[in-house]
Amino acid sequence: MANYEPTSIRGKKDPGWNHGTLVNLNKPIDRIKCNYCSKITKGGISRLKEYLVGGFRNATACKHVSECVKVEMKELIETKKQAKFVMDSVPHFDDMDN
Ligand SMILES: [Zn+2]
Repeated sequence: MANYEPTSIRGKKDPGWNHGTLVNLNKPIDRIKCNYCSKITKGGISRLKEYLVGGFRNATACKHVSECVKVEMKELIETKKQAKFVMDSVPHFDDMDN
């Protein structure tokens, strides 16, 4: 009857969690195992998403993930960037009225 979600550990709402599994619940470091190739990334869910997409700082990319997942993860990363950008630019909203 409870609404309790066993997967709702900090930050687990991110759709990136559909593609990775938290390795060690006892460690402060977010080590996440890729669901497609068992590679373990360190640095949380955003790092895993970068790994799935490829072409980021770590330079490696998952070779087993499907193209559509890659696209999905890439869009997630972009959306987050844009959300931050929009929030940063909100104070300049008045300029639109000339
Ligand atoms: Zn992988």
